[in-house]
Amino acid sequence: MTNQPLGGNDMPRFAGPNTFMRLPSAVNAEGLDVAFVGVPMDIGASWRSGTRFGPKAIRAESAMLRPYNMGTGAAPFDSLNCADIGDVAINTFDLKDSVRRISDAFDEIVGFGAVPMTMGGDHTLTLPILRAIAGKHGPVGLIHIDAHADINDHMFGEQIAHGTPFRRAYEEGLIDRKRVWQVGLRGTGYTAEDFNEARGWGFHVVQAEDLWHKSLTPLAGHIREQIGNGPVYITYDIDSLDPAYAPGTGTPEIAGLTTPQAVELIRGLWGVNVVGCDLVEVSPPYDTSGNTALTGANLLYEMLCILPGVVRR
Ligand code: MN
Ligand code: MN
Repeated sequence: MTNQPLGGNDMPRFAGPNTFMRLPSAVNAEGLDVAFVGVPMDIGASWRSGTRFGPKAIRAESAMLRPYNMGTGAAPFDSLNCADIGDVAINTFDLKDSVRRISDAFDEIVGFGAVPMTMGGDHTLTLPILRAIAGKHGPVGLIHIDAHADINDHMFGEQIAHGTPFRRAYEEGLIDRKRVWQVGLRGTGYTAEDFNEARGWGFHVVQAEDLWHKSLTPLAGHIREQIGNGPVYITYDIDSLDPAYAPGTGTPEIAGLTTPQAVELIRGLWGVNVVGCDLVEVSPPYDTSGNTALTGANLLYEMLCILPGVVRR
């Protein structure tokens, strides 16, 4: 019998444990297929802070999620043993030490054979996760949904920050550069070429303007075909959504994805060999309605629903 989320008929949804979907908590990922884990960090953020409170808020909003996906029939808890293993103890006074602590924590998670599903936290955290993922799987395909490319060479002279992880991942060979998609990029840049450098590396870059007013199901189908059977990591920056849908984030950009588009993209990736996912950049102090954390919790659930081994009814 796999772990099940605590039901609303057993304990009111406004009560009970503050774990993701009120799943059982676990001290580590041993014996799990899927480990939900928080990385409560904002010391890599360049503009608004507050993402250190992201995991707590995502867990709180996830309390309303029920186990079955009525849109796709996915029944993730029928076959996958899931638990919430709590937060990584980052060092909030030292970003570089925090990055080391995150990679150590994820080395352990993937060492137990669990798929990490991460609640952020600013986007810096994806670099140490990819180090751990590549340590197990080798270079992985990457589906990166974001308003920003996050391929700066440095920020204020620092090589590690929330705007640099995918340049570092490319340089370190953590990702398979021909199997990388960046989706939803937009806004203003430092040069007119900001999105083209990664195209030169082999990345597939899909700007938001090319997605306005369209279903994302065809794009997801194209990615699914092209990315092949090898391992893939999905990193979902909540600022890929329009600020009308997800205002509680550190670096908002107008004219972004809609919530239905965000769901279409994930659902369309069913069948991809996903070995890890994160949902980053939820900043509760700017999320006055809680809608951003609610959306983040649902997108994380949708990613759970496309993992290998999930059955559909
Ligand atoms: Mn980002
Ligand atoms: Mn972003």
